[in-house]
Amino acid sequence: MTLRAFVVGHPIAHSRSPLIHGHWLAAHGVDGTYERVDVAADAFAEFLGQVRAGAYLGGNVTIPHKEAAFRMVDRLTPRAQRIGAVNTIVRGADGQLTGDNTDAPGFIAHLDRSLGADWPGRGEGRALVIGAGGAARAIVVGLLERGLASITVANRTRERARALTELDPERVRVLDWDRLPDTLGDVDLLVNTTALGMKGHPPLDLQLSGLPAHAAVADIVYAPLETPLLAAAREKGLAAVDGLGMLLHQAVPGFEAWFGIRPEVTPDLRARIVADLTA
Ligand code: NAP
Repeated sequence: MTLRAFVVGHPIAHSRSPLIHGHWLAAHGVDGTYERVDVAADAFAEFLGQVRAGAYLGGNVTIPHKEAAFRMVDRLTPRAQRIGAVNTIVRGADGQLTGDNTDAPGFIAHLDRSLGADWPGRGEGRALVIGAGGAARAIVVGLLERGLASITVANRTRERARALTELDPERVRVLDWDRLPDTLGDVDLLVNTTALGMKGHPPLDLQLSGLPAHAAVADIVYAPLETPLLAAAREKGLAAVDGLGMLLHQAVPGFEAWFGIRPEVTPDLRARIVADLTA
């Protein structure tokens, strides 16, 4: 029997996830499919009913259904509970759906691969997270789990940044948006989680000259792959971590749960997605 998984969203045509999972299905010779499913918000509950009934082993959830999936699945992993959004659903043998969020481990896995797993040591490292949307929440949870000493969040809408401090009031703080340029001197890792720098959006307007020479700069925008922020970081000789790695690594746990094989993020896979992004 063909094993079936999905990515559900609305719209969904832009999703690169079928390319990623299709690559792994072929590489491992799995008799399976990973299908794009376009489902409007008012039909999402019915779609989950089909998954419970056995139409799929599970799948990925993207905009605009991540919060609805959080409310509607039968069980949540502790990480999904903390993040408040679900991007991966796994159907159990009993038909119950478990919701997980793999954005946090995906971001951290790519960061560790890019900077070395010993960076920074436990209880060290100060991160500045720019933005406080859904992706930022996952990243702050990932950085907390990774053991960073402090995480400062700056967002255009201050209240959304303040909400993130509830994740860990000791280690997560708010910085006013207009104070961003003054505070770079003690930042070890700067992460852009806003849409700024994405194709069709203005770049993030921030001079990096205040960052220490050892600092790393990560951007979770991956279209374009080299955002103006990452280009500026490289120009200053700083380590630059792109957003594509997060997208690739967040896909690993889902594939493993549905198809029973832990796949690798290989240079081949990356090259395939880069070719698609730049086509
Ligand atoms: P979201 O929940 O809508 O949050 C958007 C964030 O961007 C908010 O902090 C928002 O600030 C900020 N923003 C938007 N326009 C801005 C502007 N003109 N000036 C200042 N701030 C602005 O979206 P999300 O789901 O977090 O996604 C954010 C970005 O991450 C997107 O580009 C998405 O493609 C990317 N992403 C990448 C991955 C990956 O795997 N690499 C995964 C998820 C998301 P306000 O709160 O003030 O509106």
